[in-house]
Amino acid sequence: MRFVIFTQGCPHNCPGCHNPETHDPTGGKLMDSTEIINMIEQAHLIRGVTFSGGEPFLQANALAKIAIAARRHGLDIVTYTGFLFEKLLERAVTDTKVLALLTNTDILIDGPYKKEERDLRLAFRGSCNQRLIDVPKSLTAGRAITWQDPYLKNFS
Ligand code: SF4
Repeated sequence: MRFVIFTQGCPHNCPGCHNPETHDPTGGKLMDSTEIINMIEQAHLIRGVTFSGGEPFLQANALAKIAIAARRHGLDIVTYTGFLFEKLLERAVTDTKVLALLTNTDILIDGPYKKEERDLRLAFRGSCNQRLIDVPKSLTAGRAITWQDPYLKNFS
C-alpha cells in the first residue's frame, strides 16, 4: 500500500494520457507540503510514497521536502516523470531542485507514455519505452540502471 500524490501541471501532452485532468498547471487543489507530510505520518499501513502526475519535476523542491520527511519514517519513494533520466541528470548539474528530488527518489519511472508502445503486461507503467530505474545505483554509476521488483520480475 502506498501514499500517492498526483501533482498538477504537465508539459508533455502524451497522446492517450490516462490523467489529462492533471495537465493544466492552474488546476488541482493547492496543498502545503507540511500538510501532506502530516497526512503521510498518519498513514500507518503504507510502505512508501509515490509521486505521479502531472509532471512531478515541475514541483521538485516541495516533493523533495516530502520525500526527505517520508524517508525518515523508513518509506521508499517512487517518482514518475515524462522526462528521461539522462535529461534530469543533465539538469541536476545546475538545478538544485531537480538534484534534490532525484537524490531522494528510490525508483524513477521515466519517459513519456507512448500509446503505440502500450503494453498491459508491464508492471507499474503503460508503455514499453518507460523504464524502472534504480536511482541510487544510477546516480553512482552516472547512467540508468534498471530496477526490478524481486517479486514481480517474472511479469515485467
Ligand atoms: S507525462 Fe504522464 S501525465 Fe504527462 S502527459 Fe505524459 S502520461 Fe500524461
